[in-house]
Amino acid sequence: MKTDIAIIGGGIVGSAIAYSLARTERSASVTVVEPDPTYEHAATPRGAGGVRQLFSLPENIWMSKYSLTFYRDFAKIMAVEGNPAEIDFKTQGYLFVVGEGDAEQLRTNYRLQKSEGVRAYLLDRAALAQQFPSIGTADVALAVYSPDDGWFDPESALRGFRRKAESLGVHYVKDRVRELQIDNRKVTVAWLKTGDTLRADVFINAAGAWAGEIAQMVGMALPVEPMCRLQHYWRCRGKIESLPLVKDQSGLFLRPEGQGYVGGCPSFDIPAGFMFENADGRFEDYFGDYFDRVVWPLLSIRVPKFEAIRCERTWAGHYAQNRMDGNMILGRWIRGCENFYVACGFSGHGIMHAPAMGLAIAELVLDGRFAAMDLSRLGYQRVINNAPYREKGII
Ligand SMILES: Cc1cc2nc3c(=O)[nH]c(=O)nc-3n(C[C@H](O)[C@H](O)[C@H](O)COP(=O)(O)OP(=O)(O)OC[C@H]3O[C@@H](n4cnc5c(N)ncnc54)[C@H](O)[C@@H]3O)c2cc1C
Repeated sequence: MKTDIAIIGGGIVGSAIAYSLARTERSASVTVVEPDPTYEHAATPRGAGGVRQLFSLPENIWMSKYSLTFYRDFAKIMAVEGNPAEIDFKTQGYLFVVGEGDAEQLRTNYRLQKSEGVRAYLLDRAALAQQFPSIGTADVALAVYSPDDGWFDPESALRGFRRKAESLGVHYVKDRVRELQIDNRKVTVAWLKTGDTLRADVFINAAGAWAGEIAQMVGMALPVEPMCRLQHYWRCRGKIESLPLVKDQSGLFLRPEGQGYVGGCPSFDIPAGFMFENADGRFEDYFGDYFDRVVWPLLSIRVPKFEAIRCERTWAGHYAQNRMDGNMILGRWIRGCENFYVACGFSGHGIMHAPAMGLAIAELVLDGRFAAMDLSRLGYQRVINNAPYREKGII
C-alpha cells in the first residue's frame, strides 16, 4: 500500500489529526493504521471526557478554548450526510478546590486564565459553601469555578471524528504497525502485523500509551509510558445539588454520571505498564483494595455525603504519561527523521485537546508551521534539552 500521510493509531488523537488533514482538501491521501476498531483497550473510551480551561500554561488554555468551542458544535461539524454526531456535552463546569498551601498557585493560575479570557470565579470558603453546599470545606482555603467547562461522552467523540474522517476519504486499515523502516534519514515503510506494508511520505505517531513502543522502532527516545489509572462508579442516597467536575489537590476527581458519579485518584508512582481488569473486573495484583483504601477516604472529605457509598464498578485506562513533565509532545522528530511526527504524551488531557492537536499537526505537516496557535514550546526540542515544561498546581 502507498499513502501520502500515515497515522499510527486511530484513537481520538489519530482520528482528530486524520479529520483535520482531510478537511483541508489539499489532496494528500491519509491512511490510519488501527488494529482494534472496537477500541477495547484504547484510553479514549475509558476516559472521563472532561474539558477545562483551568490550566497554568497558556498553550493548554489556548487548546482548551479551541476544543471547547469545537466540542460544543461537534454534532454539527461532524455530521455525515445530515446525521449529527451527538456527544452528550454537559456544560456543568469545573471546580478546583485547594487548601492553604496551594491557594497562592491557584490565584496565580486564575489571573492567567482571566487574562486569557476564561470565565472563572474565585470562591472563598463561605462562597463555596453557599454555591455548592455538599462540598466539604473544612480543609479548603480557596476554589476556582469555571462554568463554561464540562464533559461529554469520549467514545462518541472518537466515533464522530472517525466517521467524519472516513467520509472525507481517509482510509482506516485494521492492522498493527510492528516495524518501521528508515532509508536516508526518512521513515519510508511501515511493516504491519498481517505482513502488508504501508509506504508513506510522512508518518505520525499517535499511538497513545503505545507511542513509546512505536518510537523505539525508529530509535527515538520518548519519555512516554503507559500509566494505569482506575476509574470508579458509585451512587449516593443523600440529596446532592448538581455538581461540576470537581478536582482537589490530592489528585481526586469526581463528576456526575447518569444516576451516580464517576471519579478516582491517579497514583503517579505506579510502575509503568498495562494493567487491565480480569474477567471478574478485579485488580488484585497491584491495586488491591484501592478504592476503599485511597479513594473513598478522599471522597468522604470532599463530599461528606459520600461517606455512605459503595463502589459499584471499577475499570482501568492508561495515560500516555509523559514522565518528563506531564504534557503532550507534538511535532517533528527534530535531529532524527524529520518526516516522523509525534502527537503523544497527553497524560490526562488527550480527549480535551484532540481537536486543537489535530489542527496543529495538520498545519505543521501541510505548511511546516503553526498558524492558529503557537505550540512550539510543546515540541520535541524540550525533550532533547531535557527542559521540562510543567503545569503548576492541580494537573
Ligand atoms: C481514567 C482516565 C480518565 C481520563 N479522563 C480524561 C478527561 O477527563 N479528559 C481528557 O482530556 N483526557 C482524559 N484522559 C486521557 C485521555 O483518555 C487520553 O489522553 C486520550 O484518550 C488519548 O487518546 P489517544 O488517541 O492518544 O490514545 P488511544 O485512545 O489509546 O488510542 C491509541 C490507539 O493506538 C492504537 N495502537 C497501539 N499500538 C499500535 C500499533 N502498533 N499500530 C497501530 N496502532 C496502534 C491503539 O489500538 C489505540 O486505539 C483520561 C484517561 C484515563 C485513563
